[in-house]
Amino acid sequence: MPKVLKGGCLCGAVKFQCEDEFARFYQCHCKQCRQLSGSAYAANLFTEADNIEWLEGATQIKKFQHPSRDFSKAFCEKCGSALPFVTKSGKALLVPAGSLDDHPSIPVSANIFMSERVSWLRQDDQLECFDEFPD
Ligand SMILES: [Zn+2]
Ligand SMILES: [Zn+2]
Repeated sequence: MPKVLKGGCLCGAVKFQCEDEFARFYQCHCKQCRQLSGSAYAANLFTEADNIEWLEGATQIKKFQHPSRDFSKAFCEKCGSALPFVTKSGKALLVPAGSLDDHPSIPVSANIFMSERVSWLRQDDQLECFDEFPD
């Protein structure tokens, strides 16, 4: 039996769980993922389309679908947190990695759309690290 991972949004309105069975785990650096996530890249897991059980707040989920291109985002209508959704093809469930409370067992598979990555992104060991906001 695969482990069950729980997740949800920041305000707590939406809660879900899914089995820890992911096929791919991408860090996508494309412009659209940067805009949708508001960050340097989006970390997204992919699994079977039916690997999701909504525990609370399923009716509070809003979805944006780009009118002409294959970009979507599901989010909590109260707090805006990114949430899982079935991709346009209907074949896969995209789970924003940050929406999970637990850590998936799959390691990141790849960085994708690296030609579009921002120049300011630093992922080196020399960068100073803090466990909270620095003084
Ligand atoms: Zn919320
Ligand atoms: Zn992307």
